[in-house]
Amino acid sequence: MSADLTRLSAADLADRLAAGDVSSVEATQAHLDRIAAVDGAVHAFLHVSADEALATAADVDARRSSGEELHALAGVPIAVKDVVVTKGLPTTAGSRILEGWVPPYDATLVERIKAAGLPILGKTNMDEFAMGSSTEHSAFGNTHNPWDLDRIPGGSGGGSAAAVAAFEAPLAIGTDTGGSIRQPGAVTGTVGVKPTYGSVSRYGLIAMASSLDQAGPVTRTVLDSALLHELIGGHDPLDSTSIAEPLPPLVEAARQGATGDLTGVRVGVIRELQGEGYQPGVLARFHESLDLLRAAGAEIVEVSCPHFEYALGAYYLIMPSEASSNLAKFDGMRFGLRVVPEDNPTAERVMAATRGQGFGDEVKRRIILGTYALSAGYYDAYYGSAQKVRTLIQRDFDAAFAQADVLVSPTAPTTAFKLGEKLDDPLAMYLNDVATIPANLAGVPGLSLPNGLDDGLPVGFQVLAPAKADDRLYRVGAALETLLEKEWGGPLLAQAPELETR
Ligand code: GLN
Repeated sequence: MSADLTRLSAADLADRLAAGDVSSVEATQAHLDRIAAVDGAVHAFLHVSADEALATAADVDARRSSGEELHALAGVPIAVKDVVVTKGLPTTAGSRILEGWVPPYDATLVERIKAAGLPILGKTNMDEFAMGSSTEHSAFGNTHNPWDLDRIPGGSGGGSAAAVAAFEAPLAIGTDTGGSIRQPGAVTGTVGVKPTYGSVSRYGLIAMASSLDQAGPVTRTVLDSALLHELIGGHDPLDSTSIAEPLPPLVEAARQGATGDLTGVRVGVIRELQGEGYQPGVLARFHESLDLLRAAGAEIVEVSCPHFEYALGAYYLIMPSEASSNLAKFDGMRFGLRVVPEDNPTAERVMAATRGQGFGDEVKRRIILGTYALSAGYYDAYYGSAQKVRTLIQRDFDAAFAQADVLVSPTAPTTAFKLGEKLDDPLAMYLNDVATIPANLAGVPGLSLPNGLDDGLPVGFQVLAPAKADDRLYRVGAALETLLEKEWGGPLLAQAPELETR
């Protein structure tokens, strides 16, 4: 009974809760039991908030039995990436510099999750300050891919993706600055969505690069992502870049897509996001998925986005520039760690010692890169040029979306690599996000869903839509998911090896 509850999609679990077949306390306990059984091996969680989760669950159960009208996801447990602040729960962003910090407030999206009655199971592991593609830059140890424990779960949100893939949580929150929801989704066989920039509040996300960061859902089905996206999204006056208009109907789009009919939908294949550097098996799955979309009635067209070639370069100037400024506040004075040198502990020397010990190598690398790119003599040559490239990429998207309703590509060029394999080669690590970064630079939404295996490891398929047209992701994503699951005879994750439990 308890194992079965962890296998349900969030939508199915919500139905069971609404029907009174199962209580939220039972569902939450089943997931806590699963965490206790497998997280020693997976290490998706940095902090498990069992008591708080069970208290929320009991409260939801009581409200339900008193006949109160509840949110559709009320009582369904969720995990939250540790870059999102949670009142009363430790929040580290994967960094020693925030070890021991307990936020005095909730991020807006957490407030919405709490108001809807979703028990928060805990905080998930991540690359320090969301910098990385493997979660190996976490200061608190690696997360392991449930498909193969010797491999990376993607990053930076490897913890959220692994938790969902390992059936430790039916839902999770991720953040995506350059691909950190979608790439972990691709390599763990889960669904991840980066919403349109400004459509999910950034209030209470520990900022990496404010013009790129966006929080979004991590789930096992496209419908579950739509449900969670509708819950966390929409206008927030506390975020100055928040979009005032309401979200398009996402759940409705997912349900429409699930019929498997895409008649009249124009799907643009991005010429620049395939070929060299992509694993042959990833490309094979991509082309098979295109055939399925075609069979569903979609019109497949090829589009060219010539400036995508420069996206990675522009990103690795803009992101570190913004990060170097955002991370200046971690100075040993305001939050978390403070290292006081014995000799002459002036404020400046305390700051230097705290930052020296508190930040890991990748964070330091990016702060140095960012401050250099922003320095007076180099600002125009680096940051200024990168911003111009950003405009060209936005224009590429505009031109492509004039020819197609959605754009598609593989999500990541490869399947999950071995832990340690790329750790000493930052540039190789950066290449994981070639296909996901353009969307962040342009602010457009993207979804990744599993579209098969290569050598026993999951492959991801990416759908991109114009800004504020996130509904199209769900329509096309749900259609492809339906067709793929018909071929597989069920969800891809059913094929994942059983984890040893303890
Ligand atoms: N892997 C990319 C980076 O290291 C993206 C990270 C993210 O989206 N948070 O910056």
